[in-house]
Amino acid sequence: MSSEGMPFLPYGRQTITEADIAAVVEVLNSSFLTQGPIVPAFEQAVASKVGASHAVAVNSATSALHLACLALGLGPGDRLWTSPITFVASANCGRYCGAAVDFVDIDSATGLMSVSALAAKLEQAEREGSLPKVVVPVHLTGSSCDMASINSLAERYGFAVLEDASHAIGGGYQGEPVGNCRYSAITVFSFHPVKIITTGEGGLATTNAPALAKRMAHLRSHGITKEAQHFERPASGPWSYEQQELGFNYRMTDLHAALGLSQLQRLEQIVAERQRLLHQYSILLADLPLQLLEIPKNVYSALHLAVIRLADHCPVHHRRVFEGLRAAAIGVQLHYTPVHLQPYYRRVGFQEGNFPEAEAYASNAISLPLYPGLHEEDLERVTGTLTTLLRS
Ligand SMILES: *Cc1c(COP(=O)(O)O)cnc(C)c1O
Repeated sequence: MSSEGMPFLPYGRQTITEADIAAVVEVLNSSFLTQGPIVPAFEQAVASKVGASHAVAVNSATSALHLACLALGLGPGDRLWTSPITFVASANCGRYCGAAVDFVDIDSATGLMSVSALAAKLEQAEREGSLPKVVVPVHLTGSSCDMASINSLAERYGFAVLEDASHAIGGGYQGEPVGNCRYSAITVFSFHPVKIITTGEGGLATTNAPALAKRMAHLRSHGITKEAQHFERPASGPWSYEQQELGFNYRMTDLHAALGLSQLQRLEQIVAERQRLLHQYSILLADLPLQLLEIPKNVYSALHLAVIRLADHCPVHHRRVFEGLRAAAIGVQLHYTPVHLQPYYRRVGFQEGNFPEAEAYASNAISLPLYPGLHEEDLERVTGTLTTLLRS
């Protein structure tokens, strides 16, 4: 199979309109490239879109996860649990705070954190006095985890829930938008270009707790406050600001926020187009020895990714299918190598066999190209190539 002359199809990419470009240019021509009015406007627009009281925009979802963990009081001696099938940032945020990281195996059908595995692990941790302080469910491919059940466990065992919704803006759970924090303390979104909507680089945390929002906003900008009524010491003059704790420069710029604000206007359209494309895939792939990743009932997936799982009886090896698709200029990807098997996490003692469902998932999952702007002939090229590979 030759890929000559065929355009490369990535697994995901941004779509940029004239309106997006105009919005960014408008900021370039304004007085503020950063710390102007567009970041708060973007925050308000996201908060109202997802039904949360507060939103704090930052320069990446990784930064948002870090600030969220700090705001939840995570520190040395504490534990954070997440899914092994996620991007490393969902776990690293715990390490930034000096906490120990552990994982909860997934449900094999959905790829999401398994509630029964979580319940069993919590029961054991309670006996051993090693309960987590923060649990990070990851809405893999844009499908919400079973948040009502995770929240019940949070109430029983006293941990905070931090939703990693990097894949899931525009998605829904039980008929409500992901990000409204009905069942969590904080939800985090990513606006990296491969995600649902983009700001270039960027992330955002939503919450309904004013104290958490305030703490994250404070830490995003060096731990500095400029408001005299919040000073710890008498102001020495009108030039004063106070650094009250050790924060970071995790701010989003107005340029980035303008792109996000413009993209947000098309959120529903973008997700609907992703739904349409996935439906096409499901028809074109129906007769092959594979399944699309299952989407739970009560979930409207934002469909960041189109993940197929090769069946156990599939005659062609995972790696061979990957290589065949890549050779045909189709940019398939594995989401994800289980985080516990990354060298950094192996070094603290994790190894093969720790999370069997996650490892099985990684042995047969493939993310196919999925993004608005993918044409009918692109889809047919992907499914045609797969058909040829799996029948060879
Ligand atoms: C992309 C991603 C992140 C990190 O997002 P950035 O904005 O690139 O920092 C975190 N978690 C998950 C699940 C992601 O997919």
